[in-house]
Amino acid sequence: MLPYFEYADDIKMKNYKITLLKGDGIGPEIVDEAVKVLNKTADKFGFSVEYDEALMGGCAIDAAGEPLPQETIDKCKASDSVLLGAVGGPKWDNLPGDKRPEAGLLGIRGALGLFANLRPSVIFEPLQGDSPIKDEIIGGQLDILIVRELTGGIYFGKRGRTTAEDGSPAAWDTEMYSVPEIERIARVAFEMAMKRDKRVTSVDKANVLESSRLWRETVIKVSKDYPEVELNHLYVDNCAMQLVRNPRQFDVIVTSNIFGDILSDEASMIAGSIGMLASASLAEGKFGLYEPIHGSAPDIAGQGISNPLATILSVAMMLRYSLDQGEAADAIENAVNETLKKYRTPDIYAEGMTKVSTSEMGDRVCEFL
Ligand code: NAD
Repeated sequence: MLPYFEYADDIKMKNYKITLLKGDGIGPEIVDEAVKVLNKTADKFGFSVEYDEALMGGCAIDAAGEPLPQETIDKCKASDSVLLGAVGGPKWDNLPGDKRPEAGLLGIRGALGLFANLRPSVIFEPLQGDSPIKDEIIGGQLDILIVRELTGGIYFGKRGRTTAEDGSPAAWDTEMYSVPEIERIARVAFEMAMKRDKRVTSVDKANVLESSRLWRETVIKVSKDYPEVELNHLYVDNCAMQLVRNPRQFDVIVTSNIFGDILSDEASMIAGSIGMLASASLAEGKFGLYEPIHGSAPDIAGQGISNPLATILSVAMMLRYSLDQGEAADAIENAVNETLKKYRTPDIYAEGMTKVSTSEMGDRVCEFL
């Protein structure tokens, strides 16, 4: 038998530090439910979680005069992972662009080096039929992962105002990608595909844009390291059309910041309810920020009717991608699937189901765990 102290060290419980950015509107109520589920999962799978809260968005403007205080960045950097609710609301809508709550979102991506945005578009079996796309096209199944480059391209390029040749006022933005930027996002996509159906679609506009031609060349080079993965290329306009024509053809889609912004919203709509979809933004290594794709829903904040499942599913992504707890992630997703067979918040309510509040939904998921 091992001496006691060695044995004790061997079974030392894993402890994770998570920073919570609850944000505004429904942010605090949905994050509270996700924490409830994470605590229950930790008990079940034998790890522990330590939480630290920090301010971002409107609540940070009110408390500290800016949407992303340095203290928040420091706390996030000192943790294993970050869980974000949502930011923004009418109270701060008239502030100048760089002072608005949403400026905190762009700021934190840059500050934490979150270059890869992963958005799964999945339909849970009990919600089949909720997609605006006809059943015979969806076939009851949708499982697409969009991998969007998040810290480069036209959103971060130089821009300005100028005068056109005819003397009229004009403006310009620039799209620029370096080979290392394309390589690292392509690698994320291929690595993800290796764990899924081993298919990657790279989306660009290489028939027009030079930056897209470099994108395509670089993705092809990276693909040589993943011979098992089938790679194809689509122009962005064709991809937008194919997503509604035949979404089941896709496994992993990898694309630039602006194309990914647009296509991931389209793909999430195909999946049905906005209250169901999670996302991850990853840095080099294992660090990531996890959040629902929806906003702060000020119209329903504080009423206890918001759907916490997208945030709960964001915790599942956190467990899978940042904390190496894949089984715990599967358990949460299964529990959500089971819960949906009986219980619904108002946004996804259907006849014959039991209508529940935000916190009851969290309780039910915990029970199914
Ligand atoms: P929204 O996603 O907040 O809401 C759109 C609609 O969906 C609303 O009717 C809302 O009630 C509903 N909804 C959203 N999430 C829901 C949930 N979990 N359960 C039930 N219903 C839900 O988008 P919006 O109204 O355009 O934006 C509101 C605010 O959120 C704005 O200030 C916007 O800038 C901000 N926003 C923040 C983020 C973020 O923090 N990542 C993302 C998008 C929008």
